[in-house]
Amino acid sequence: MITEWIKQSNKTVVFTGAGMSTESGLPDFRSAKQGMWRDKDPTYYASTYALTHHRDEFIQFYRQRIKGLLKVRPHEGHTVLAEWEKRGWIDGIVTQNVDGLHQAAGSKRVAALHGSLRELVCMECQKTYPAQQYETETGTTCVCGGFIRPKVVLFGENLPEQEVERAEALIDGVELLIVLGSSLQVSPANFFPIRAKEQGAKLVIINWEPTDFDAEADLVVNREKIGAWLQQVHAELLIKNKPVG
Ligand SMILES: [Zn+2]
Repeated sequence: MITEWIKQSNKTVVFTGAGMSTESGLPDFRSAKQGMWRDKDPTYYASTYALTHHRDEFIQFYRQRIKGLLKVRPHEGHTVLAEWEKRGWIDGIVTQNVDGLHQAAGSKRVAALHGSLRELVCMECQKTYPAQQYETETGTTCVCGGFIRPKVVLFGENLPEQEVERAEALIDGVELLIVLGSSLQVSPANFFPIRAKEQGAKLVIINWEPTDFDAEADLVVNREKIGAWLQQVHAELLIKNKPVG
């Protein structure tokens, strides 16, 4: 069924959330209450408030997140999606994740709605730096003297315009939307299944827990690993793709 939909669709877009990253061993942002972060919600640190008023805590929080990020690698699901883009089976990916694992796996058309934790930017001169820069004590100060911050969207900030435009261009005219590892609860995540259904697209939701959009979906898969599911579909697509005779 899903393989037929992928083959027949003129425009297929994948939307990914935290569930895609946790399979790489990256803790879910909201449940990352460990060590010194146990006492406060991660949303406290990932905010413009912490950036402005509690900068030391902000730096420590992101230093730890970047350290964790630099240890993880894309899993088989990321690799399958990069392969699908190469083969023209999907048109692009819209993601809520900031880990850059899609790009690391080779995906090119990615709209990263919440920015990237792999890149840092000076708040004064906009000079960019790789995330590794945050591992050193002096790594938070730019050559111009400005403060260097992760290029992620903090609570209290707008989504990057360029990424939003990229995502809208992808979802425009979509015929098949595949949601992977997102509960679709918060905005703008919930915008995409709504837009897809408005345009008469097929909606597929692969998420560990049920979502509010399951009733509108054409296919729902719960309690299954995303990487394993993608590999299974990929294997079926390859069999169908094989020339006959
Ligand atoms: Zn600077």
